[in-house]
Amino acid sequence: MTTFHQIAIKCPHCGTLMRDFELMSHTVHTSTTYSDGLCEDGVSKIKDISICTNCSQAFWREDAKLSKELDYEAMEELEGALDMMDLPWRLDDDRQEKKILFYKDLLENDFADNDMKEIYLRTRLWWSINDLVRHLSRWHQARNLKHLRFILKHRKENMKLFKKYEELLKENLNRLIFLYIKKGEVDLLYLADMYREKSDFNKAMEILLKVEQKGGVYNQMKHKIRRKNKRVFQLN
Ligand SMILES: [Zn+2]
Repeated sequence: MTTFHQIAIKCPHCGTLMRDFELMSHTVHTSTTYSDGLCEDGVSKIKDISICTNCSQAFWREDAKLSKELDYEAMEELEGALDMMDLPWRLDDDRQEKKILFYKDLLENDFADNDMKEIYLRTRLWWSINDLVRHLSRWHQARNLKHLRFILKHRKENMKLFKKYEELLKENLNRLIFLYIKKGEVDLLYLADMYREKSDFNKAMEILLKVEQKGGVYNQMKHKIRRKNKRVFQLN
């Protein structure tokens, strides 16, 4: 069961008070997990970054918590804080690119003031670039000729976009690998995937071979590294 708790937060930029939600408990029923760590479980409302209703600037929710709780009536009068899905570009045709640039800009503007926040942003940047190729339909999924043409066109466009951001993906992974190792508690399968996705297949294999529990994901990863396949994939 997923339960939310209402909290009041204060924009660190302009001081506006807003309402937001905090996740209290969460049980995953069905989820799809990918090699880059993204887990799709339908709880998309949980964000660590909120956007101010007044000044439209992004802020970390943990930096915006009030020291004391407001009473129910005061809370009801507040507007709900926004998140990335409320930004005006969410329905634009190029929203996938805008999402990539949203995280890229935050990183360039030193929005993250510690390693954990930087890891958070770099992971989101990584996911948003991978999103370009994460859900691509395959030709055999086509229902008819028209649908087939649509799938092929969509694949081609997204592959082209993915290429455009490939260099950014690599740069981002270089820094993410550094921060991830520095943090400690390294998941070797996850680290191997980071090297695989930046096309460093030798290093990816070297790390993979250190994994002690060799299960299904290990075999999947080994297969991908051997075939020099650097694309994000769904874990079985
Ligand atoms: Zn504000």
